[in-house]
Amino acid sequence: MAVLGFIGLGVMGREMASHLVAAGHTVQAFDLNPKSVEELRQKGAKAANNVTEAASGADVVITMLPDTPQVEDVIRQEGGILANPPAGGLFIDMSTIAPLATRRLSAELAAAGIAMLDAPVSGGPAGAKAAKLAIMVGGAPDAFMRAKPILEVMGTTIIHVGESGAGQTVKACNQLICAMNIQAVCEGIALGRAAGLDVEKLREVLLGGAASSWMLQNLGPLILAKDDRAGFRIDLQLKDLRLANELAFELGVPLPGTALATNLYLEARAHGEGSNGNQAMFRVYDRMTSQQQESAKGAKQ
Ligand code: NAD
Repeated sequence: MAVLGFIGLGVMGREMASHLVAAGHTVQAFDLNPKSVEELRQKGAKAANNVTEAASGADVVITMLPDTPQVEDVIRQEGGILANPPAGGLFIDMSTIAPLATRRLSAELAAAGIAMLDAPVSGGPAGAKAAKLAIMVGGAPDAFMRAKPILEVMGTTIIHVGESGAGQTVKACNQLICAMNIQAVCEGIALGRAAGLDVEKLREVLLGGAASSWMLQNLGPLILAKDDRAGFRIDLQLKDLRLANELAFELGVPLPGTALATNLYLEARAHGEGSNGNQAMFRVYDRMTSQQQESAKGAKQ
């Protein structure tokens, strides 16, 4: 069993850290929100008051933070990972951040004798809770072999996809596919609704055919129930689209579908839906089809 520092106990991190505790690891848990740390302490983790305490004597430090600046902060702050390296010399960032920044951070840590893996995840809060995440890992093969037994506690599909930054690059591809997929699901339901279909039946039959998807399966019911709670927040999805767009600019690759999805998500955020779940993309379609909905209501009366 290992001593693990775990930093970032939000929607995803709290579930992932809980599995590590349940597997028998000593987890030194830290989050800026003391309530989240207390919640983990009650599950058997050791409460850490800062990054230094989380990393102290750890074989491995894991981060599950919102974006690149927070990961940079944990690494570079006074008493952070660079100044206070984990005893086992391994740092695993499971957040979704920029691939190019990841490569820079990895080189910086390597110069201080610390191996860094980028290991972002897919599967959402449900996947985190069930320990069934897909984990895409970039970094040195020997570091991956050391990390694998720990990652296996949190996920079921764990693949070493290449050198540093490759995990984040795969995640950027994953996220643009997800964004266009939820958009497609919303568009299909919006058309079906405008045509007067029973949208429950629409979803049921689509799930059995070629239009089936994770989004239709998992977010379809929330769309139909008008339940916009996150889940995966619109703000985080926009952050991930920004990361994909930045990488595409860097490589000179056109991403026309991503551009459209990005603009629809910006529309959602402009209407105050940043903290809502990904399925709130359907509100954009509500607004675009409001006239049809009014005339359908009028026809019924
Ligand atoms: P979240 O906002 O719920 O959690 C982030 C946590 O980090 C918060 O508890 C916050 O207090 C803490 N935090 C922020 N800055 C910190 C700092 N400097 N030091 C210590 N703690 C700090 O986010 P989440 O949904 O758990 O997502 C985490 C990461 O995983 C993101 O990069 C996200 O894109 C990715 N992700 C999320 C999902 C999802 O469905 N929610 C799915 C896959 C990947």
